[in-house]
Amino acid sequence: MALFKKKKYIRINPNRGAQPTNPPTVPDNMWAKCPNCKHIIYTKDIGEERVCPNCGYTFRISAWQRLALTIDEKSFEEWDTELTTEDPLNFPGYQEKIEVIQEKTGLHEAVLTGKATINDIPLAIGVMDSNFIMGSMGTIVGEKITRLFERALTAKLPVVLFTASGGARMQEGIFSLMQMAKISAAVKRHSNAGLFYLTVLTDPTTGGVTASFAMEGDVILAEPQSLIGFAGRRVIEQTIKQELPEDFQKAEFLLAHGFVDQIVPRTELKKTIHHLLELHTQKGWLDHE
Ligand SMILES: [Zn+2]
Repeated sequence: MALFKKKKYIRINPNRGAQPTNPPTVPDNMWAKCPNCKHIIYTKDIGEERVCPNCGYTFRISAWQRLALTIDEKSFEEWDTELTTEDPLNFPGYQEKIEVIQEKTGLHEAVLTGKATINDIPLAIGVMDSNFIMGSMGTIVGEKITRLFERALTAKLPVVLFTASGGARMQEGIFSLMQMAKISAAVKRHSNAGLFYLTVLTDPTTGGVTASFAMEGDVILAEPQSLIGFAGRRVIEQTIKQELPEDFQKAEFLLAHGFVDQIVPRTELKKTIHHLLELHTQKGWLDHE
């Protein structure tokens, strides 16, 4: 057994105590860790679509990045930027928080809305951003999305909405919850006019957003591995006193249970949206004639 014993010897480091003059450094943002497969990935390999080359997980991106990946260049005309966030409950620190996040994200609220084209097909588009207080839905988010549908109805445009949200905004209490009904009514009026509504569920889409307009699309797409649900996993487990499956509330689980129509990798998303718009809008039909 002595053969397998580790030899004991003393390492002598000739540089011990000396400070290297030019220590090797790794540039910031050179590596990223995938939140899904936990692999360390070379940032360049994630590409501008921000997809994990190992497992296909789609990194969270900002609303502006999403627009750049989705619509025709310079086609975006933003709507309702004059709406400002109120503080109806005098929630401590809320106004300050909004100002800091506006500065940090370059957004004035957690959703961007406007008019654009995708391969020359005009549409009304909304993109939520999880960097803005977790994409939570307060009064302004609700109002902007409602107006998105109302303007789309007037202009007879289809609506494409990218959802990303932690749910209702607790700092606005009941006023946040009221948005669910208000938006749903606008979605219904848009639908009654025979206009097309497409939702793309992105990571994470939860709470009151899932319980209303996220799940009201005529077609519901999702990005791979996205967290989609209403209440959080722990809340449900503690309520029903049962352990939930590992993939519970993942896009793939929802597809298998009929809540989502298709999971589309980000690299295929623009093509898929364009195809669906072509099938469901007059412009698409006219182009095919
Ligand atoms: Zn991964």
